[in-house]
Amino acid sequence: MKKLLRVAVVGCGSAGPAAATLLKRQGHEVVLFERAAECRPLGAGFLLQPSGMAVLRELGIAEEIHRRGARVERLHVVDRDGSDVLDLRYAELGDGLHGLGLHRPVLLHFLLETMRDAGVDVRWGWEISDARRDDSKWLIETADGKKETGFDLLVVADGARSALRGKLGFQGTDRGYPWGAHWFIGENRGAFPESELYQMVHGTRRLLGFLATGTELDGDQPLVSLFWSIKLADDAAIRARPLAEWKQTILDLCPQADALLSQIDDWSQVLTARYGDVSMSRWHGDGVVILGDAGHAMSPQLGQGVNLALADAACLAGCVARLPLPEALALYSRERRMALAYYRFASRQLTPWFQSDLEWLTPLRAAFFGVTRHLSPARKFMTRTMAGLVGSPNSGS
Ligand SMILES: Cc1cc2nc3c(=O)[nH]c(=O)nc-3n(C[C@H](O)[C@H](O)[C@H](O)COP(=O)(O)OP(=O)(O)OC[C@H]3O[C@@H](n4cnc5c(N)ncnc54)[C@H](O)[C@@H]3O)c2cc1C
Repeated sequence: MKKLLRVAVVGCGSAGPAAATLLKRQGHEVVLFERAAECRPLGAGFLLQPSGMAVLRELGIAEEIHRRGARVERLHVVDRDGSDVLDLRYAELGDGLHGLGLHRPVLLHFLLETMRDAGVDVRWGWEISDARRDDSKWLIETADGKKETGFDLLVVADGARSALRGKLGFQGTDRGYPWGAHWFIGENRGAFPESELYQMVHGTRRLLGFLATGTELDGDQPLVSLFWSIKLADDAAIRARPLAEWKQTILDLCPQADALLSQIDDWSQVLTARYGDVSMSRWHGDGVVILGDAGHAMSPQLGQGVNLALADAACLAGCVARLPLPEALALYSRERRMALAYYRFASRQLTPWFQSDLEWLTPLRAAFFGVTRHLSPARKFMTRTMAGLVGSPNSGS
């Protein structure tokens, strides 16, 4: 009979609760530690890909989430002059594939519900500052002196700025990006298509996106997320100027954003997002594994972070179900290597084409995407990349 484990999961974003639920369902004893005192999802909308949806189906929460999401059929990027830069449609991959624009609290709500139903013990308000071996078990500790011990497996899912990654001796570093984004989520009011991620670019310094985001948990108004590329070093200076100036820069590029921008009265409604860039080649050690952004944060240009985090969780649970712990963790790193290496490489390569001072890339971008748009195999590969289907077992890539 397989040995049942006592598992500590650190972090209640996407990877943490998904892994906790799947491991608990196998009969393991699972305790999840989250530093927030209560469930408080941050951030605007995001795009769930077919790769992430497959994990939500495994968790049994796909249908509920679907009901609150916007069925996204297309990524459409246009230049300021109206010409197409990129036009990728999920339909090209067949099988009714699509993305799902989602309000972040919706995903977290259902992840928490399924975790509670599975019987995971959740400790809110535990900010884990250290983890070490105590005999052959893990002991974890908070800065204010709370301790818990006796864990066979430590699952680190504490996000891009992981406190534990370095402490546990993993080599990965978070280099971050000089560019980030201003975010706002508001009511769409018919201004933007509800089945698209629509982006406008002007050179490499201007990027404006509108993502159909579905509804709030109990709402019925279609939402849209706006993201506006900024250099992080300029953030404070932009915010020191009148909001109207910021709005006008956006309106100059996209007059139809007026109805959305009119819902912003104060800078506090506009969030600043920073992107991590964490690089590792092995995500496990002796009785420990790193999931999600803690192990592979990347720029959201390819919109894969939540999807990779969910896929990590499903992969870990699959490995633990099949093999004794040491072999399971080694298999986990092997199974995730190709997808994680590919998406890290692709997002690093792509980001400067859309967010950088390298304006000379603009004509190259137009030429590259101009050619690939008309080459069916290249376009299909880019669509598979967007759908999160490259590099995973069973993906055919
Ligand atoms: C602007 C922007 C847009 C994005 N758009 C998309 C998109 O469209 N599609 C997509 O798939 N991804 C997108 N992402 C990426 C996505 O948000 C992340 O990749 C994803 O949230 C990672 O999940 P995670 O569970 O690894 O970490 P997180 O979601 O960061 O969760 C980590 C959790 O750990 C907790 N924690 C941290 N430290 C501790 C500690 N010491 N002790 C206890 N708890 C701790 C945190 O409070 C948090 O709850 C975007 C990111 C940004 C910034």
